[in-house]
Amino acid sequence: MQVPASQKTPLIGLSRASLHEALTDFGLPARQVRMRVGQIWHWLYWQGATDFDTMTSLSKPLREQLAGHFDISRPEIVTQQISEDGTRKWLIRFGPGVEAETVFIPEENRGTLCISSQVGCTLNCRFCHTGTQPLVRNLTSGEIVSQILIARDALEEWPTPAQGRQITNIVLMGMGEPLYNFDHVKTAMDIASDGEGLSVSKRRITLSTAGVAPMIERVGREMGVMLAISLHATRDELRDELVPLNKKYPLTELMEACRNFPGLSNARRITFEYTMLKDKNDTPEDARALVQLLKGIPAKINLIPFNPWPGSPYECSDWERIEAFAEIINRAGYASPVRTPRGRDIMAACGQLKSASVKQRASERRRQRQNQPVAETA
Ligand code: SAH
Repeated sequence: MQVPASQKTPLIGLSRASLHEALTDFGLPARQVRMRVGQIWHWLYWQGATDFDTMTSLSKPLREQLAGHFDISRPEIVTQQISEDGTRKWLIRFGPGVEAETVFIPEENRGTLCISSQVGCTLNCRFCHTGTQPLVRNLTSGEIVSQILIARDALEEWPTPAQGRQITNIVLMGMGEPLYNFDHVKTAMDIASDGEGLSVSKRRITLSTAGVAPMIERVGREMGVMLAISLHATRDELRDELVPLNKKYPLTELMEACRNFPGLSNARRITFEYTMLKDKNDTPEDARALVQLLKGIPAKINLIPFNPWPGSPYECSDWERIEAFAEIINRAGYASPVRTPRGRDIMAACGQLKSASVKQRASERRRQRQNQPVAETA
């Protein structure tokens, strides 16, 4: 029996264990399931399959049965924009009114994919555009992984290349606070780093948090990816203003969590992001306070020139200020790359992402569902 597309069980985003369970529940003989998990995993994440019919290592009748019950399609791409500097941005629709952005930033010897973990955000960092968009909902592990799949499709990067890849790195620096969606992000990153699939090493995956201090330990212990902290200020008073989450987890607590980050070493440093805001946090004294604050923590410092957005309450620091700041940090022994703004012309640079999605009341959602054709694909 064919199930309508919208009621099929999504397979993308299931851990190996959950995939095993899904195939067992579906009725595959127990002695087959392990092998089938391996085969399907290979097709989904090594070959990038979007259709069971291409899975030629499975018999045709099995392919048809699976296709009748499981969904492996991609979410809808609403728009794809390409910046004059080669940066690409996709607006992806995960469901009615649920849209988020994904950005690919090509560089000379690497390419970074910046993915979202939530639609909207709860945190209201004053200088961040996404922060002006209330949280719509967390993305599922499948929706997080799908952003990688969509980028791989667009860059024609299937099967997973051993060398010469375009997407070499992944950063969880799109929309949302990833530590408020820990389980889905973890499952998604386990899938992204699986050596028989997408195969992006955890050393090349960086999770950026606004500072959810109590969750930081779990990033190292359970997720095993690299950590970035959105610092932006070295005093609680200023950080309370810029990153209001600081009122909940002030600097002492945050820095303590960083010092205890599992696996921290000179080979595995924490990145501290510091957005340069004119006359707010950009003086030589601020730079010296930053060096002081990070003492004893294996760290990289990433200076980000502020990217303006419509109505933003701050300006970017003058170039001389940024250089003087970087110089002080350099002299203290940190390589302090200033992040070149990328994709500003298509609003794809740090902190510029925002989608039109708004959280709907349950009553509106029900109304919308009732007006929808039943067989519409998810
Ligand atoms: N939600 C994650 C990732 C945010 S984007 C987090 O908060 O860590 C990556 C970095 O860009 C963060 O450090 C964020 O604070 C910073 N950022 C946000 N808005 C910005 C803007 N308009 N200009 C420059 N950097 C910005």
